[in-house]
Amino acid sequence: MVMKQLRASGGAWLSIGKTNLYIDPGPGALVRCLNSKPKLEPATLDGILLTHKHLDHSGDINVMIEAMTEGGFKKRGVLFAPGDALEEDPVILKYLRDYVEKVEILKEDSEYRIGEIQFSTARRHQHRVETYGLNFKISPHRLSWITDTRFFPELPDLYRGEILVIHVVRLKPVGEEPIDHLSIEDVKTIIRKVKPRLTVLTHFGMTLIKAKPWVVASELENELGVKVMAASDGLKLDLKEV
Ligand SMILES: [Zn+2]
Repeated sequence: MVMKQLRASGGAWLSIGKTNLYIDPGPGALVRCLNSKPKLEPATLDGILLTHKHLDHSGDINVMIEAMTEGGFKKRGVLFAPGDALEEDPVILKYLRDYVEKVEILKEDSEYRIGEIQFSTARRHQHRVETYGLNFKISPHRLSWITDTRFFPELPDLYRGEILVIHVVRLKPVGEEPIDHLSIEDVKTIIRKVKPRLTVLTHFGMTLIKAKPWVVASELENELGVKVMAASDGLKLDLKEV
């Protein structure tokens, strides 16, 4: 998806009150922000959060730090990232780390706050690099963000938000192959347990794109009796109207 840009890979922009947080600035994040209508102005960001260092989530992180801080001329913002994104084989350039006001290291089961946005991490995901999903405390509905992971039995209990964003790659699970991603079968297990008001599927691989994500989403909706939608490029979601 990323290499051919069959789907946009720039991540997500979260606005709560006056606070703006960018989640996972993958390849194309800056260009997508500037081309979106209305334009999303990176200099208004209060923070950038990286769930893990894989390139499809972090490709534009350095340029987004530059954009948030206006080329380093305005020291601002908080950078949230797992330790291994900054230490071994880092994806965040060292000279940019002084541009932000603060670097906060994401750890397991920890609480964080930036302006009007409060969130916590759960336990480390089963993914090849250090990876954390997120639970945002947003009223009236909590938002849970299940980023890349292999399925594990405790997973649904860690993310009980009424709005659930799930990064799902495959239509079917791949037997014993070491694929560290969720499939639609895993999504069913999660939805059955969590019973969210709204599930948003994103991060599709080729098997899901071929099956048409919006068709898969409506089949899930019929089967499980809850609202499920497939993300599309530039999707804007009003959390108050869910
Ligand atoms: Zn990943």
